[in-house]
Amino acid sequence: MDKIIEVKNLHKHYGAVKAVRGMDFYVERGKLFAFLGPNGAGKSTTIDMICTLLKPDEGEVIIDGFYLGQEDDRIRAVIGAVFQESILDDRLSVRENLMVRARFYSKDHRGIRAAIEKVIKVAELTEFIDRPYGKLSGGQRRRADIARALINTPKILFLDEPTTGLDPQTRKSVWDMIARLQKEMKMTVFLTTHYMEEAAKADYVIIVDHGQVATKGTPYELREAYSTDLIKIKPMETMRGRLIEYLGEQGLESVERERVFQIAIRSSQRAIELLMASREWIESFEVIHGTMDDVFLNIIGKEQKEND
Ligand code: ADP
Repeated sequence: MDKIIEVKNLHKHYGAVKAVRGMDFYVERGKLFAFLGPNGAGKSTTIDMICTLLKPDEGEVIIDGFYLGQEDDRIRAVIGAVFQESILDDRLSVRENLMVRARFYSKDHRGIRAAIEKVIKVAELTEFIDRPYGKLSGGQRRRADIARALINTPKILFLDEPTTGLDPQTRKSVWDMIARLQKEMKMTVFLTTHYMEEAAKADYVIIVDHGQVATKGTPYELREAYSTDLIKIKPMETMRGRLIEYLGEQGLESVERERVFQIAIRSSQRAIELLMASREWIESFEVIHGTMDDVFLNIIGKEQKEND
C-alpha cells in the first residue's frame, strides 16, 4: 500500500489543554480522505502540524517520504493548503494574486504563466480572473483560494472546511470541483467538513474526538458498523401472520403501522436475508439506508456519554 501521509503517536498540548493526544493514522496516495470530528476535537491542530505550521510535542509525521521537523521545505513543496481564513489580497485581481503566489515558487516567467493558465482551467476561474478578489462571490472566492493552493502542483491538497458558509448550490459546485481535481490530477485530497453527505463521498473517513482517532473506515464500512438500515415491509394480507412469526423467530423487533412493518436492521447482509426469506409474502417494501449522519452521531454521542 502506498502511504503518502503517515502520522504516528502525534501529541500537542496548549498549556493544560491536550489538543492532540496520540493521533495515529495514514492516508493512501491519490485518495479523497475526510477528517471529521466535533469542534475542538483536534482537527486543525493536527492539520497545522502536518502542514509544518506548528511543531508537535511528540510523534512522527512522514509526508511523501519526508520527515516532519527534518525536511520541512521538501514537505512544503509537495503540499497545498486552503485554510478557513483566506490569505488572498482583496484589492488584487485573482490573476495578480496567483502571480504573487507563483513567484514565490519560481522565477521563470514562462513557467509562471503556464502554471497560472493551468490552475485557471482546472479551477474554472476564467469568468472572473481579472476581477478583484474582494468583489467575488463566496463560491468564486473558494475556487480562487483552491487555485492558489494548486499553483505548485502539490501532491496533497489540504482543505479545511472548504464548503462551510456556502449556499447548497455553490457548495455542490465547489465540491464537484474538488472531486474532479482529485480524479483528474490524481491528487491526494485531505479535507475536513461538517457536511456528512460530503464525507459519504470520500474514499476513506477518519472520525476524531478528544485528540485521538475514534474510528476509521470507508463510508460503507462505517455505515455497516455504526448505523442501521430501516426496512419497511408491507406483507400480503394473508401473510401478515407468517411475517410476524418469522420476525419473532429471527429476534427482529418491528413496529407495525397501517400494515407496514418497520424493522431496524444492523447490516445490509441481514437486510438481504430478511428480504430473501420473506419474498413470497411481500406486497411491497422499501429499504432506507443508514447515513453518515447516523454514524457521526452514534460515535460522538457514545463517546460523550462515556465521558459524562
Ligand atoms: P478542531 O479543529 O477539531 O475544532 P482544534 O485543533 O482547533 O480542534 O482544537 C483542539 C483543542 O485545542 C480545543 O480544545 C481548542 O480550544 C484548543 N486550542 C486550539 N488552538 C489553540 C491555541 N492556539 N491555544 C490554546 N488552545 C488551543
